[in-house]
Amino acid sequence: MRFKPSPLTKDVNFECKFCLDCCRGRFIYLTLSDIEKIMKHSHDPQDFTLLTAEEGKIRFVLAYREWDLGCIFHDPETGKCKVHDYNPLICQIYPFMVSHQPLGIEGEKPFEYKGEKLWIYYDKNCPGVGEGQEIITREKIAELGMEFQKEFEKTDLDGLNKLLDGERDGASV
Ligand code: SF4
Ligand code: SF4
Repeated sequence: MRFKPSPLTKDVNFECKFCLDCCRGRFIYLTLSDIEKIMKHSHDPQDFTLLTAEEGKIRFVLAYREWDLGCIFHDPETGKCKVHDYNPLICQIYPFMVSHQPLGIEGEKPFEYKGEKLWIYYDKNCPGVGEGQEIITREKIAELGMEFQKEFEKTDLDGLNKLLDGERDGASV
C-alpha cells in the first residue's frame, strides 16, 4: 500500500497494530548509520541491503522476501519487527514523514523547528494513527526527519565500501 499523506498539525496518539502494510511492497531506504547499526548486531549487509539507482545516485534499501515483498526483518508469524531495537531511522519515523517543502495538500501548515521550516504528514492508510496511549509529538518527528535527511545526504557507495573495509580489517564499525 502506498503512503497517503495527510497533514499532521498537532501531536497525535499512535499505536502500531502490526498489520505489516508499511513493511511490505515499498522501498525502505537505509543510511550508512542504519547499515552500521544493524551490522553491529551480527547481520551481514549482503543479506539485508539491496542497491538501487535513483537520479544517477546509488541508494541502499532493505532486502525483501520474494514471496510477499515483505522486509526480510519482518516476522510473518508474530507480525513484528525482528530488529525493532535497532531498526532503520525511516522505520522509526513511519507512519509520519517530514518534508522541507509543502506537498500541496489541503490543510498543511509549516512547523518551525530548530530554525527550519518543515511540513509534517502522516499516512492516512496506517490504522495505528490516533490509537493507543502514546503521544507522538511533532518535535520528535521533526528531530528524526532532520537526522534522516542529514544521514541520507552523506550515504553513498564510497561510504559503504569504507564501512565494509573497516569490518574486513577488524576495525570497530
Ligand atoms: S501500517 Fe501502521 S499499524 Fe500497520 S504495521 Fe505499519 S505502523 Fe503499524
Ligand atoms: S526493519 Fe522492521 S520496521 Fe523496518 S521495514 Fe523491516 S520489519 Fe518493518
